[in-house]
Amino acid sequence: MNRINLLSQRLANQIAAGEVVERPASVAKELLENSLDAGAGKVDIDLEQGGVKLLRVKDNGSGILKDDLVLALSRHATSKISNLEDLETIVSMGFRGEALASISSVARLKMMSKAIGDKDDNGWKVETAGQDMDARLEPVAHTRGTTVEVRDLFFNIPARKKFLKTEKTEFARIDEIVKRIALSRFDVQFSLRHNQRSIHKLLPAKSEQEQQRRVGLVCGPAFLENSVHIDLERAGLRLWGWVSLPTFSRSQADLQYFYVNGRIIRDKLVAHAIKQAYRDVLFHGRHPAYVLYLELDPSLVDVNVHPTKHEVRFRDSRLVHDFLFSSLHKALAKVTPSDQMTDNSSTPSLGLQNLPNSPQGGVKVFSNQSPLALKESNELSYQTNSYNSSAWQTDVKDHLAALEKLGADDAEIPPLGYAIAQLHGVYILAQNKEGIILVDMHAAHERITYERMKLACENEELKMQPLLVPLSIAVSQAEANCAEAQQLVLLNLGIEIERASDQAIVIRQIPSILKDSNVEQMVRDVLSDVLEFGSSDRIQSHQDELLSTMACHASVRANRHLTIPEMNALLRDMEVTERSGQCNHGRPTWIYQSLDELDKLFLRGQ
Ligand code: ADP
Ligand code: MG
Repeated sequence: MNRINLLSQRLANQIAAGEVVERPASVAKELLENSLDAGAGKVDIDLEQGGVKLLRVKDNGSGILKDDLVLALSRHATSKISNLEDLETIVSMGFRGEALASISSVARLKMMSKAIGDKDDNGWKVETAGQDMDARLEPVAHTRGTTVEVRDLFFNIPARKKFLKTEKTEFARIDEIVKRIALSRFDVQFSLRHNQRSIHKLLPAKSEQEQQRRVGLVCGPAFLENSVHIDLERAGLRLWGWVSLPTFSRSQADLQYFYVNGRIIRDKLVAHAIKQAYRDVLFHGRHPAYVLYLELDPSLVDVNVHPTKHEVRFRDSRLVHDFLFSSLHKALAKVTPSDQMTDNSSTPSLGLQNLPNSPQGGVKVFSNQSPLALKESNELSYQTNSYNSSAWQTDVKDHLAALEKLGADDAEIPPLGYAIAQLHGVYILAQNKEGIILVDMHAAHERITYERMKLACENEELKMQPLLVPLSIAVSQAEANCAEAQQLVLLNLGIEIERASDQAIVIRQIPSILKDSNVEQMVRDVLSDVLEFGSSDRIQSHQDELLSTMACHASVRANRHLTIPEMNALLRDMEVTERSGQCNHGRPTWIYQSLDELDKLFLRGQ
């Protein structure tokens, strides 16, 4: 039988390194976080061979006192917390005191620093090479701040080195880390170099415009052009940042940055809330793109959940979920065409037209965030196959007068302009003062019909229908507890439930629109959502799906001739309908090309 030994410090560090130091990118993350924790305003990152040969991070932060340099390299050595209460209000990125010890046990590490309080003219240097921590101090020339140089990662652990990927892949992962961090600290200057080549140079960004510029450099100009800026506050929570228009969705969830109090996280609750907000507008199987910041009282969120700290735990997860969902849902609903199309100077936050580097001749989708009132007449129009609107009655004469207005300089032209013609039985061609608009008439009508149906449903409240025979289903005790505790929440969703026994519930009523669905499965799904996220959108989602199908069948079909007044009525309805930029399936309903862009296409004035 083996006897019990105490691990040597070196071995303990190497084991810890298994968790903290997986690859060069994890080293980069730890070093960058240390620089930020030290209050640096400028951080330079230098890499060779994907960070495996060399990974150097230089900052102008507070530095490390000579007497602390060696200590900084030992395990559980941290200046960031000293008691358990500190954890409650932690604002630094690190606090475990493991990173430097772990890194130095699996690489050659050199750390140079000059601290604010040190009186020497020179700085100090320590060097280790995977050894025990008997590092020697030497004087070195260094300006205020710290440089940490990590060479030959895993030189002493060949087994781990084998698992590293190609230089390109390892570099890409570091780049991703740098991007994440650069988006979390607009106030800090970052530079990244790889094999002597400059990759990023990001200047400090104070104004919203500068921040927007950084977002464009990090996420690409296309993202900025197709996103809206939001900034909302409620009940001590603030959510701000940029979210992509549904029509700019991605095949992968690769452009998603979410920060809680400046810390990037990947969290199921957050992901669920965002997905729910995009539910109705995103093309099937696509992913939204976003750079979002949630700010709240640090004591309302626990960041000490996960060793690599990508997860957080909110004290009031339901409040957060609800806030995220409703903020984004609202922001996306308000994306409609408007007179901001021509006058964007007052709304830099929209970040569309006013960007310097929009692609030449590119097709743009415009958006606005001004609050809008929904039309009063919400009668359902899906029974008919014609375009049904009050404005339908518009006289042809009115229309002609309207078209004439296009010529007059001072006339008020609606954002989507006036219809000129129907093309190929599918598209409406319209012009406003600044350019031309093409509308997919079926897609647009479908959205309008759908939104009206949803509203009608909402206004009627969810009509409940008692089940002829109450349905008893067996559930887990946790689910039964949840069902009992959340009776009111469920009733709001249109489900009346009673607890029957320890592990059984009885369903008495359901929303009448869902009477033909698999009630048991739906209630089970709803319960598991409520257990996990504190809310469920399944009912809504199911109901919306039905309405969406109905709307699709009820909307004008291709090849149906529309009169000019009908087309204009459709344009006007689009202007006041929420989410009218996308059809129910997330496809764009209209595109716009300005005269300037058309001129460029035809090389006019060149
Ligand atoms: P942690 O960040 O969890 O405290 P680390 O092992 O990353 O643990 O760092 C140990 C300590 O070394 C930090 O608490 C900090 O005091 C000091 N330190 C590390 N990097 C820097 C830096 N770039 N500038 C100033 N101090 C640093
Ligand atoms: Mg650290």
